[in-house]
Amino acid sequence: MSNTTSTAALTQLAEDEILLRDSVSEFAEAQIGPHVREMDEHAKLPKELLKQLFDLGVMGIEIPQQYGGGGATFFHAVLAVEALSAVDPSVGVLVDVQNTLVINAIIRWGSDDIKKRYLTRLASDTVGAYALSEAGSGSDAFAMAAKAVADGDGFVIDGRKLWITNGNEADIFIVFANVNPEAGYRGITAFMVERGMAGFTVGKKEDKLGIRASSTCELILEGCRVPKANILGEVGKGYKVAIETLNEGRIGIGAQMIGLAGGALKHALRYTKERKQFGKAIADFQLVQAQLARAATEIEAARLLVYNAARLRDAGKPFLTEAAMCKIFSSEVAERVTSLAINLYGGYGFVKDYPVEKLWRDAKIGQIYEGTSNMQLVTIAKQILG
Ligand SMILES: Cc1cc2nc3c(=O)[nH]c(=O)nc-3n(C[C@H](O)[C@H](O)[C@H](O)COP(=O)(O)OP(=O)(O)OC[C@H]3O[C@@H](n4cnc5c(N)ncnc54)[C@H](O)[C@@H]3O)c2cc1C
Repeated sequence: MSNTTSTAALTQLAEDEILLRDSVSEFAEAQIGPHVREMDEHAKLPKELLKQLFDLGVMGIEIPQQYGGGGATFFHAVLAVEALSAVDPSVGVLVDVQNTLVINAIIRWGSDDIKKRYLTRLASDTVGAYALSEAGSGSDAFAMAAKAVADGDGFVIDGRKLWITNGNEADIFIVFANVNPEAGYRGITAFMVERGMAGFTVGKKEDKLGIRASSTCELILEGCRVPKANILGEVGKGYKVAIETLNEGRIGIGAQMIGLAGGALKHALRYTKERKQFGKAIADFQLVQAQLARAATEIEAARLLVYNAARLRDAGKPFLTEAAMCKIFSSEVAERVTSLAINLYGGYGFVKDYPVEKLWRDAKIGQIYEGTSNMQLVTIAKQILG
């Protein structure tokens, strides 16, 4: 896949990037759009939709072609997540976790054997999940209680993971556990765990405020034996796998947030042109025009931050600060724009017959997962203070 040159504008896309974005957008409008409300209401993702996403090629965007994937870039994944999230941020995060966390970590840290065994499945029909958080360790992720004890040619994992996106749909899980709690974070190790392994079960699914069709589940590991061959990276280096993957993953959340905000603005533009008060369309009022213009400007600014962070990552340049900035800013823009969209719909914005209240509920998660806004500020402050 080709990339734009370094002198190109950030939003100037290469032909293959335009093709991907437009085909995913068309798919989302036609195939997901009609089901969004029902999926939200029932907090469920139709099984057929998963198959469609694999057929569309968005479940293995960066997977090298030798394993059956798209062989494309991180930026392509960002475009796909943005396009899907404009219609349904729940589908956006499913695809985001698959690509920017699970596949990304395996490509970077997996042995040839792990790549062969898992990338092939992830590219064709299997959903993945990324399990770091626990009930007692969120922002302080390395304070995890999950333990792994060496046992012959493997490890036995005991612990519980909480809040795991895709928990319901996934068959492959990257699970973090500590092999040597006395060594602190230097004991953390990443393991490839499969549904069906003895001692591993997917527990309760959360009933959430937003992104309700995205499953968020507890994982229970009770004497779960995992072969050594399933260690992702090195023993005691799981903290690096976690940090580095999440640094990149949060650009994907930025993409989810700009997609979501763009979707809300699109609804607001359409509605304000149709809705008449005082004898004219409400979009004819200058005050409304200014609100819409400000929202469009904020989304554009957020998009530039997201695209820049993604392009820096693909170029192999440092992007830590930019990634944190894109996530915090785009999630705040998403909250503001979706809130404005509700205001512009008036009473209709407050009811479920119209799409904007859902997007507002969905926006809230952007400030929480893959590092809360406070944690992004901590990262940015550390970088700028030196
Ligand atoms: C829908 C959903 C999906 C998720 N998906 C996944 C997933 O797939 N995999 C996974 O591993 N995890 C996942 N998570 C977990 C998510 O990453 C954590 O919820 C998040 O990191 C925050 O952790 P916490 O909930 O324990 O909050 P806490 O860490 O307890 O934070 C509570 C508050 O304290 C603030 N705070 C904490 N420490 C500091 C500090 N040092 N300075 C300033 N403020 C601070 C936080 O900013 C926040 O406002 C998901 C969560 C949700 C809700």
